[in-house]
Amino acid sequence: MEVVKTIPELRTLRQKLSGTVGFVPTMGHLHEGHLALVKQASMENSAVIVSIYVNPTQFSLSEDFADYPRDLNRDLELLRREAVDIIFVPSDDEMYPPGFSSWVEVEEVTERLEGASRPRHFRGVATIVTKLLNIVRPSRAYFGQKDAQQVAVVKRIVADLNMGVEIVVVPTVRESDGLAMSSRNIYLSSRERQAATILFQSLMLARQLWQDGEKNTDKIQQQMTSLIQKEPLAQIDYISIADAETLEELKSIDRPALAVLAVRIGKTRLIDNMPLE
Ligand code: AMP
Repeated sequence: MEVVKTIPELRTLRQKLSGTVGFVPTMGHLHEGHLALVKQASMENSAVIVSIYVNPTQFSLSEDFADYPRDLNRDLELLRREAVDIIFVPSDDEMYPPGFSSWVEVEEVTERLEGASRPRHFRGVATIVTKLLNIVRPSRAYFGQKDAQQVAVVKRIVADLNMGVEIVVVPTVRESDGLAMSSRNIYLSSRERQAATILFQSLMLARQLWQDGEKNTDKIQQQMTSLIQKEPLAQIDYISIADAETLEELKSIDRPALAVLAVRIGKTRLIDNMPLE
């Protein structure tokens, strides 16, 4: 396992790899969700490259870039137990050198949900993912279903810009009580950690209603809202029942759909989703 910090070093090592290369981009502070992507990448490819980079351009000034948890030694320890060939840990100067001024802007799919709540977030995501895919040139890149809109954005870029990489989506890994694993869960106090299970409970409620035959998305959203409002520490940012591919809001569940939501638990903003298909 080689750890490299610069693009030329990464390219030199990448050229020596033969067969298919699976790539897992992360912001570090790794948990079982990240490791599920790494494990799947190593099962499906001859070699695996993981990047660890907290990308400043996807955070707004009021967000948690400075506080985002970072522990490189722990991350490297966890990755040493997996079949990883190269870990790319670039600096901000390596990724955004002086004079940097090109951005990847994706229309439509970025305008709702996370895009509406976090202006410019997806411009940062689209730009860094494009850069990393250009640097690593993987056969396949692995992304978590937990960030469903990010998956839709990345698929759009790869199709629109003919990037010739297969995007593989890995199901959300959850704690035993259903909370989706996230680096941000570390911000939760023990009372907030309990309260955070309300996201999964409301998604299970949506799935139950849909399985019982409810197709009207307003009715499902209303019931999810009432359930979440019973938790005093929770504040809803958005709840939507959306087309599973385009994330467009649906009035009726007449195609593969996703229940998606963002909820603040205290000061921590959590997102999650559940396929209804
Ligand atoms: P992050 O470090 O949060 O940028 O996440 C890196 C990758 O891991 C993204 O593709 C995420 O969607 C994915 N990921 C994060 N949490 C989970 C989870 N609980 N289950 C599956 N994938 C996840």
